[in-house]
This record gives sequence, C-alpha cells and structure tokens, in this order.
Amino acid sequence: MIRLNEKKIIEDMIVFYCKKNHLSDEDYLCINCKNLLEYSINKLKKCKYVNKPVCSNCTVHCYQKNYRNEIIKVMKFSGFNYLIKHPYIGIKFILKKIFKI
Ligand SMILES: [Zn+2]
Repeated sequence: MIRLNEKKIIEDMIVFYCKKNHLSDEDYLCINCKNLLEYSINKLKKCKYVNKPVCSNCTVHCYQKNYRNEIIKVMKFSGFNYLIKHPYIGIKFILKKIFKI
C-alpha cells in the first residue's frame, strides 16, 4: 500500500530541486531526477513496514548508495523550503519516516 502523503512530499521535493538546479519546468523533470523519483516511489510501495520504524531501527537498507546520496542532496536543498510551506509536517517526519536518515 502506497502512502499518498509521503509520495506527494517526495515528489514535491524532487520537482522543486530539479526546477532550481537543473532548470527544468513544472511538468518535466530531467532524466536523473525522474529516475530518482521513480526509484523513491518504488521503494515506498515496497516498504514492508506499515508504520515505519525510525531509520536507526530499520532492518532494511532500502536505498542504494548513489540514490541515497542523491535523495539527501534533494532533501537538504528542498527540505527547508518545504518546511516553510508545510510547517505542520515537520523535519523529523521527513527525515525519519521518508528518507530513513
Ligand atoms: Zn533534475
């Protein structure tokens, strides 16, 4: 079961990152970011935890290293902006629930 909220957050962050860094427009992500988004969403779909444990307790290292590095970059760039727009979500949620870092 995919978690719509998390999917939306990841999508928003990657779109924002790509727009600012790779000069793509709203509807079109560059190939790298498109791959990253697909990869992340796939991971969400496959995650076996309904209520994810925090990263330090998670037994599944689900992000491959290169994707993991990419998603961390995206999050550092987009995270702050995202929090200003959606302060109710909170950085802990983003860090632990989604990216498991
Ligand atoms: Zn991009």
